[in-house]
Amino acid sequence: METKLIKKELLPGIVRGLAEDTLVYAPVQEEDNIMFRVLEKDMEPILEFANTKNAPKNFFFPQAETMMRFLKKERGAELLEVPIAAREAVLFGVRPCDARSFVLLDYVFDDPKYRDPYYVERRAKTTIVSIACVRPPYSTCFCTSVGGHPMSKEGADLSLVDMGDTWLAEAVTEKGEKLLQNMGDLPGADEAAVTRKNEMAEKAAEVVKADVPASTIKPWLDENFDHDFWNKIHIGCLACGTCTYLCPTCHCFDITDEMKKEEGRRARSWDSCMYWLFTQETSGHNPRPTQKERWRQRFMHKFKYFVDNFGAVACVGCGRCVRYCPVNIDIRKIAQDISKL
Ligand code: SF4
Ligand code: SF4
Repeated sequence: METKLIKKELLPGIVRGLAEDTLVYAPVQEEDNIMFRVLEKDMEPILEFANTKNAPKNFFFPQAETMMRFLKKERGAELLEVPIAAREAVLFGVRPCDARSFVLLDYVFDDPKYRDPYYVERRAKTTIVSIACVRPPYSTCFCTSVGGHPMSKEGADLSLVDMGDTWLAEAVTEKGEKLLQNMGDLPGADEAAVTRKNEMAEKAAEVVKADVPASTIKPWLDENFDHDFWNKIHIGCLACGTCTYLCPTCHCFDITDEMKKEEGRRARSWDSCMYWLFTQETSGHNPRPTQKERWRQRFMHKFKYFVDNFGAVACVGCGRCVRYCPVNIDIRKIAQDISKL
């Protein structure tokens, strides 16, 4: 696979050029936040930032989408449209933790038994460009505790590394190689640049605290569904759902049918295990009646059930849930406290 060098001043123009005939989803400034958005003509991509507030999962798994449209008939319904219309796209500027989240989401949405055509179609047509964390941006980052690395290429098609006055662009897949070729006639990276990048990777990993015992707590979780510990972790939780909505790996959704006269649509929208309605049954019974059971579910899903089902922890250590929780509930501390029990 090819490795090229891109002069710093050239990259914004290259990204804007891509957006002329391809759908580009990239970080942009939005009030006080950096957010992933579809790059429109008058928008400037942000290339140097800590991380976006929202996770890039929205691109493959939108917050709300129509799954089908139908016409009500005397008996049953007639299917009008299944809108799976993915375009060729570039998801640009994803941090390595977030790029890795797609590997985890693929387990759920691209399972051979239960393939989600909406997600899979978008994923197949999209080239993911990651930006390595040469200087891991937050004290809340813990990618190395959950199998990641601040300069990992996992989940990316093309990886960019900030080398000072140039970007080192390394193709990881054929899609990435094709995109790199489309970026124009770029000089190749010499061995010295690659060696320097590897040294930077070692230093970057040292900055991230590897103190979250994400995988070693699994045996405790297997045995302690009813432990007293669960009675306190949720205290203060407002059930706002911020942690799940900003999480790159949370993927629960709800499906509803909506009617307007004879026409209807089936829509899906994100749901959150933090909400009291999440598991409410039609009878009125709710097997998770308080925030205690809901928080236990969130934690167990990430560190036990996902491991049971797919062999991986469902957290990439981006730290968003820690940074944005309005009452400072810290998933790292919960794991650390469990490891001391
Ligand atoms: S962000 Fe904090 S307060 Fe909101 S639901 Fe999550 S844990 Fe509760
Ligand atoms: S659980 Fe928190 S730290 Fe882990 S991936 Fe989700 S938002 Fe990031």
